[in-house]
Amino acid sequence: MKVLIAVKRVIDYNVKIRVKSDNTGVETANVKMSMNPFDEIAVEEAIRLKEAGKASELIAVSLGTTQSSETIRTALAMGADRGILVETDVELQPLAVAKLLKAVVDKENPDLVIVGKQAIDDDANQTGQMLAALLGWPQGTFASKFESDGDKATVIREVDGGLETITINMPAVLTTDLRLNEPRYASLPNIMKAKKKPIDTLTPDELGVDVTPRLETIKVVEPPKREAGEIVADAAALVDKLRNEAKVI
Ligand code: AMP
Repeated sequence: MKVLIAVKRVIDYNVKIRVKSDNTGVETANVKMSMNPFDEIAVEEAIRLKEAGKASELIAVSLGTTQSSETIRTALAMGADRGILVETDVELQPLAVAKLLKAVVDKENPDLVIVGKQAIDDDANQTGQMLAALLGWPQGTFASKFESDGDKATVIREVDGGLETITINMPAVLTTDLRLNEPRYASLPNIMKAKKKPIDTLTPDELGVDVTPRLETIKVVEPPKREAGEIVADAAALVDKLRNEAKVI
């Protein structure tokens, strides 16, 4: 089984996000960037399939500026075999990402594509679903368990209030949820080895995909600041405030 994994370079989840002073977006200059956490889970799942003898080759794909190759290197250091960078300076939206990934799938013919359930920067949760639709492939989204014999796969999905088990035909698109696995850290020897693994670079033009944004960002603002709390004397005072000030009871 050949597995394609999409890895996005995003602002590290530990960074306190700052909105640009002109409200056009968030500050990315001099900010620590990392692999989207759900994509680390995607890479880990692919490596486990390879370790179990089920996957033969793992290809990590990232789309974005030239620095996205650093994210591919991280995937290679974790255990992916080779990388593909689709290089562009255009800000990519989920439909463009899905079209680019479809073009890469058409070139590489993988049996499984694993993407994160969402990117923590745009929180879109759209790419995997759009990719499956464009390919006409089954999808197992929000996966917390994945098992496959190569022809079919069983996916346990995290849904509201429980877990849903589905079987799908392969090839398929899988989107990872938090409980699918715990991603490994890359060891130093593997980081060194990853430097020798190949990364091919393509462009949207070469793939024949128009990546012009379809959505315009009007404004980005900070969430409202939380106001300080107040200690009340007793329960009666609390009820009075809830009734007459907050007017919630
Ligand atoms: P989204 O639909 O934007 O929330 O992203 C869902 C998933 O699609 C991410 O977790 C990635 O696996 C993949 N993805 C989105 N954008 C990119 C990108 N620029 N490069 C690689 N993968 C991406």
